[in-house]
Amino acid sequence: MGEENHQDPIPGIVLPVTVKRPSPLLLDGNENLKRNGILQWTIPAWAGKMDDGTRYNTCPSAGECVKICYARTGNYVRFPGVRKRHQENLRFVLEDLAGWEKAMLAELARPKMIGKYVRIHDAGDFFSAEYTAAWLRIMRQRPQTTFYCYTKEVLLFKELVEPDPPANFKWCYSLGGKHDQLLDLETDRVCDVFPTEAAVWEAGWFSQEKNDLLAVEGPAPVGMGANNIQHLKKLQGGRRLSEMQREADEAKRVRDARRPGRRSTGPS
Ligand code: SF4
Repeated sequence: MGEENHQDPIPGIVLPVTVKRPSPLLLDGNENLKRNGILQWTIPAWAGKMDDGTRYNTCPSAGECVKICYARTGNYVRFPGVRKRHQENLRFVLEDLAGWEKAMLAELARPKMIGKYVRIHDAGDFFSAEYTAAWLRIMRQRPQTTFYCYTKEVLLFKELVEPDPPANFKWCYSLGGKHDQLLDLETDRVCDVFPTEAAVWEAGWFSQEKNDLLAVEGPAPVGMGANNIQHLKKLQGGRRLSEMQREADEAKRVRDARRPGRRSTGPS
């Protein structure tokens, strides 16, 4: 962790509050990422309350994925250290976006970052235009590193990223979000969560199991088998995540149609 600045109080003078920020910002990820030399940046998943009561929503376009989100269970919530670190990362972005951007740029300037891949978000997503714009500036200034992500922020990417993406940025739209219906499965790079790894291949999709980079560098469409977390598998019920989303969208459409004077506003 970064060092806290300690200053003796001077009578009558209010010194700026110094905040301890996480360092380094990029860490080794899970086994798949570590094995393939990929570093990652992460924030907490979905919506919640930080330990100090600050509310957040880091996945505004999440849909049915919320129900089977591995980042909302297991090690992510069981270990206070992991939870604390995710919150510290998010706090840095929310409280001092310019400072965070500067710190990220400094870290990426290290010689060891040349030729490296960075996965943006093991959990969470591009939750605002400002945060996304900061990442795009960082990428343009660090062309020797390649950045990639999975995202459900389809609208934001179509508007902010797709018109002029940095050459060193690759992404895969992950199905199971509020805006799945805006994706063209023929032209957009997409991934889906299947009930098993075998089901990925049976459907003629391409697994990223051996190397997470296949999600953006390998053939598409991309599939991944569900994590082996029994209660989440039960919720998924043998369906693909995209199927869960379609069912939820249809149920909402029917509900909306039954309410007098109310037109469907699209997916839940
Ligand atoms: S967008 Fe990703 S991190 Fe967020 S709730 Fe869905 S699966 Fe979890």
